[in-house]
Amino acid sequence: MRAEILVSGIVQGVGFRPFIYRIAVKNGLAGYVRNRGDAGVEIVVEGKDGDIKQFLNDLKEKKPPLCQIYEVSVHYKQDENDCDAFTILKSSETVELSGSVIPPDVSICDECLRELRDPRNERYDYFFITCTDCGPRYTTIVGLPYDRPRTTMRAFPMCDFCYGEYTDPANRRFHAQTVACPKCGPIVRLVDNNGRSLVCKDEIREAGKLLEEGYIVALKGNGGFHIACSTIRSKPIVRLRETKHRKQKPFAIMARDLETVRSFAEVSEEEGKLLTSYIKPIILLNKSRDYYLSEEISPGLHNLGVMLPYTGLHVMLFDKVREPAFVMTSANPPNEPIITKNGEALKKLGTVVDYFLLHNRAITQRCDDSVVRIHGRKQSIIRRSRGYAPEPIHLKNPRNHCILGVGAELMVTSCLLLKDKAFLSQHIGDVENLETLEFLRDTIVHLTRLTNAQIESVACDLHPEFNTTRLAHELGDKSGKLVVPVQHHHAHIASLMGEHNVNEMIGIACDGFGYGSDGNAWGGEILYCYPNGFKRLGHLQEQPMIGGDLATKNPLRMAAGILQGTTGVEEWLFSNSKYFPHGKMEVEVVLKQLGSQSGIKASSCGRVLDAISAVLGICYERTYEGEPAIKMESAALKGRDILNLEPQLEGRSLNTTMLVQRMFALRSRYSVNDLACSAQTYIAKGLAQMAVKEAEQLNVRNIGFSGGVAYNEHITRKIKETVEKNGFRLFVHERIPPGDGGIAFGQTIAVANS
Ligand SMILES: [Zn+2]
Ligand SMILES: [Zn+2]
Repeated sequence: MRAEILVSGIVQGVGFRPFIYRIAVKNGLAGYVRNRGDAGVEIVVEGKDGDIKQFLNDLKEKKPPLCQIYEVSVHYKQDENDCDAFTILKSSETVELSGSVIPPDVSICDECLRELRDPRNERYDYFFITCTDCGPRYTTIVGLPYDRPRTTMRAFPMCDFCYGEYTDPANRRFHAQTVACPKCGPIVRLVDNNGRSLVCKDEIREAGKLLEEGYIVALKGNGGFHIACSTIRSKPIVRLRETKHRKQKPFAIMARDLETVRSFAEVSEEEGKLLTSYIKPIILLNKSRDYYLSEEISPGLHNLGVMLPYTGLHVMLFDKVREPAFVMTSANPPNEPIITKNGEALKKLGTVVDYFLLHNRAITQRCDDSVVRIHGRKQSIIRRSRGYAPEPIHLKNPRNHCILGVGAELMVTSCLLLKDKAFLSQHIGDVENLETLEFLRDTIVHLTRLTNAQIESVACDLHPEFNTTRLAHELGDKSGKLVVPVQHHHAHIASLMGEHNVNEMIGIACDGFGYGSDGNAWGGEILYCYPNGFKRLGHLQEQPMIGGDLATKNPLRMAAGILQGTTGVEEWLFSNSKYFPHGKMEVEVVLKQLGSQSGIKASSCGRVLDAISAVLGICYERTYEGEPAIKMESAALKGRDILNLEPQLEGRSLNTTMLVQRMFALRSRYSVNDLACSAQTYIAKGLAQMAVKEAEQLNVRNIGFSGGVAYNEHITRKIKETVEKNGFRLFVHERIPPGDGGIAFGQTIAVANS
């Protein structure tokens, strides 16, 4: 018998061909296996019927850990035998099927880690040790099929030793494309900020020592540069904040190991598992009572982002130091994507850092670290990037069209919806300038090529001025594809519906800003979503944004607008005039603008939370996206709902003026933490009650919560309580980011459903 087999899935770059080789030989079969240009694998086996059956069984049951099989098609042919043995053939360029992809980057495996520590091993102390089960993938691949000449490892011809392993079927580096050793592979270099090499024997450990001494070092990783410094000393962190113009935004850190993490943060069982998994994302962990690292890492917050070493280089950095952790933040100039090239790093970071730890392997696809938060036992993904992308999200209902989603403006990702899979790109960033837009464009091209997708229509945001909207038209119009705008909050709820395979939903969509169908700023919405579209059923009270966009940057302006006419507000604003860039003069201008009926209005939940944060004195200045609301959450977690305010629904709008006025009146009478908790509870209960009322009227069983505010654990919990108390189920995200990182996915679902 002869069987011709095609396998699609994540089958390249995961040790699949060596695996096939082994099970074919084990079952006494002849034939061949080869990679194809569409990321799939082609297999021919010849032998006895029963042996082929056993082979196919092994293929599914014993596949390598990183491998994912989506489809196996088998064609049997009798009396055709032309192979004597089983071989791995040179890859074919055939591009026919679509929907396979290569795996995400995988953190260093235990076996490689053991070899790194073994003085008798050829790769002892070698920072770039990898095997078929670990190492860079998505960030190193230039084209398909996945073979060394089409990765950035092509610059490093294998030495005899590595080649021997690469061609030995019994070796675990058999056909491992990133195989390398100190003789033939990438090397590291430690240089000062003028690019001059430092003379030392052990560059990586020397860099670790420099960090411990208080220097700032830029490190080249697998998907881009990090900037690192001590977590014990505050001085380098403060210096980093000054040079990076990053006043308050929290920095992620990389800790030595799990035990060390437990010494300063609370780690649940789920968090521990994910921290040590092959994905190794940054996880937001609550600071423990014994927290002893610098407060400068995440000022004013109850939590901090922690990850564990995920390459040999990271592991070695800790060897000669006592530091429990290092700050490890993406090296990107303001509003630009993460830096990937040595020259660019030297040019752009020379004034920020003291030293550079460089290596000479090129990065083709930049990829930031992923960021995750665990709510209870469920994960809430903030940034879905390294370790996740480009692995697809599986959908229960296959769609007929291939749709590209380009995202909104902040936290952008792109998404390719292809039958029953959604390929969500890595984190791109805020697409406000040319560099990030170029990165988005490149990623779309790369992902389209990897998956062999034939895009039929392009989905974008409803905002006509977004760069992503322009890009969608550019990509669509020139090739005659349909460009479909999708309202921002509709996209949020559609993503929830797509993730849970639900056809209709009453959605609560809360965030900072989304362009509404009426041209106003939306962001606290109750929507009824169904396959063909959506209806806006309710929202938070519309509040004036004094000075338009300036009210987004300055929460005091938002508070001024909401509190206009309230006794004592003018004095309060003047007493905080130092938080207005132009001081008292600006306060006077703001006061004059109050009461005018023109100007933009927002039903945004984020803006109301901002205003309350300012009223309570938690945060007067927004130095990063979401800061006032994020800091208020930290305060609220320490408080209780002492006011127990009953939500005031007026028609289809939830009164928020009353809420902010109460906060203003009571601000010196109760603790800030208790007031923050009471305010969040009011908003959560109000939104949930509105959703329940509409669900009952329309007889819809599903209620969902999406948007950036869904990262707020307290608000999510309160909404859930109210929804479930009334006999409904609350859907939240688990695999797709609730924030704008999930918009591209929602856009494609909304268009696919219509
Ligand atoms: Zn390995
Ligand atoms: Zn070698």
